[in-house]
Amino acid sequence: MTRSKAVDKGHGRVRELGSMFMVSPSKHRVALGLISLALLGVGVWVWFRGADGLPSRKYNNSERLSLARLKAVHEDVEKLQKTRQVRPMPTGWKDYRCIFHAHAEDSAHTGGTLPEMLADAKKAGVSAIFLSDHFRPPRDFIEGRWRGLKEGVLFVPGSEVGGFLVHPMKSILEKMNLTGSEFVKAVTPGDGMIFLSHIEERPDYPMDGLTGLEIYNRHWDAKRDISSMLTLALKLTDPDALSDLQEAVRLYPDELIAFQCDYPQTYLEKWDSGTRTQQLTGVAANDCHHNQVLVVKMVDAETVLLGTIVDQEDQMRKITARFRPGIRRMTQGKKPGDILARVDLDPYHRSFKNVSTHVLAPTLDEAALRTAVKAGHVYVGHDWMCDPTGFNFEAVTGAGKSIAGMGDEVMLVDGLRLAATFPVAPYVRLLKHGEEISTSDGKADFLFDLQTAGVYRLEAWLRLDGELRPWILSNPIYVR
Ligand SMILES: [Zn+2]
Ligand SMILES: [Zn+2]
Repeated sequence: MTRSKAVDKGHGRVRELGSMFMVSPSKHRVALGLISLALLGVGVWVWFRGADGLPSRKYNNSERLSLARLKAVHEDVEKLQKTRQVRPMPTGWKDYRCIFHAHAEDSAHTGGTLPEMLADAKKAGVSAIFLSDHFRPPRDFIEGRWRGLKEGVLFVPGSEVGGFLVHPMKSILEKMNLTGSEFVKAVTPGDGMIFLSHIEERPDYPMDGLTGLEIYNRHWDAKRDISSMLTLALKLTDPDALSDLQEAVRLYPDELIAFQCDYPQTYLEKWDSGTRTQQLTGVAANDCHHNQVLVVKMVDAETVLLGTIVDQEDQMRKITARFRPGIRRMTQGKKPGDILARVDLDPYHRSFKNVSTHVLAPTLDEAALRTAVKAGHVYVGHDWMCDPTGFNFEAVTGAGKSIAGMGDEVMLVDGLRLAATFPVAPYVRLLKHGEEISTSDGKADFLFDLQTAGVYRLEAWLRLDGELRPWILSNPIYVR
């Protein structure tokens, strides 16, 4: 694996600390370092209250992290699994679980490799991975990268660059200095695709000419949850709390990696305003790097370094027994340089199950997937909660004939209805232009009589441990 130090200098920056982690304000990297990993925290639900129609949270992130809560969530996931029914797909279509925004062997802060990604894709039932190499000139992100089927998993090369995920048809290395609409034009010939990424950093960016945008990004949940980092640091520097954390990883790994997951309001607002005037495909940003492997390394009997496997020692946090007396028990019988703890939170297969982009297409090949994604035949699913395969959202005539699916345009006619099917019975919200207009609860089928034109999308939520949590985000049907 190659790593570029120069490009990634500054990630996971460490500072001497007395009482807590401090976070350098540099955006993406901050999210990736201890922070994102830090997958922990409290109080991110302020915005959640008062937003129209949204189910409110019962537990904050800190509470969700406890073994008791993780266990309760896990038990409900198992119950859902038992009620799951296979729903037929529309003729000619298959549901391919795909991963957008995926990193391997592309930076110093990426821990995972392509072979590892392939093995984990098979493990998680992933059909295709759209790679998002951090752009490191002069290295090309198309030429020489994995492309096509490998042992049944389709790889499509691409890059995360300048706030976009780009998947041109062929190398555009000589055009990478272009900006704005010129850059969009360089990416999109043929079935080239470009998505706006990390929406929280560019909520006002114009959407003209773009294929779509991320409608969920795992890192956003972590980035706005700074306090979780402290919780994590505390857990890693006390033997009893550490064994609880290790137990959580062993028994409830999917629940643990999902504990911060929230409704992606900022992302959906951008999408809902954009689809008023143009068709935009919403995809999930997995943003996996397999770098959230926490390590505690002994300095001396009174001191440890805390960081991740991608951190150099000078990027790790120094923590002393004066602040965390439990450190003395951890260093007992060990010698300087020993790894006292190693907690792997985000192997690829776990990230993949956390969130994926389901693409409805006739066959598993690059051309078919590009066509389907560009057409918006796509939905986002948090698969760890329950496999959403079999979900469908369409427009049907009064006679029950399907005439449009997700991403499609359809003319409003008498008797036209929106219909959805689910493999389990969720809580459903139907939104028109981002406003909730109908809900249902506990039914595996959803029907809505259309009276007016507009852009309609649907959300399904599942009840886990007494809380409704977002499960499926459909792409819209455009009723003209
Ligand atoms: Zn990265
Ligand atoms: Zn990324």
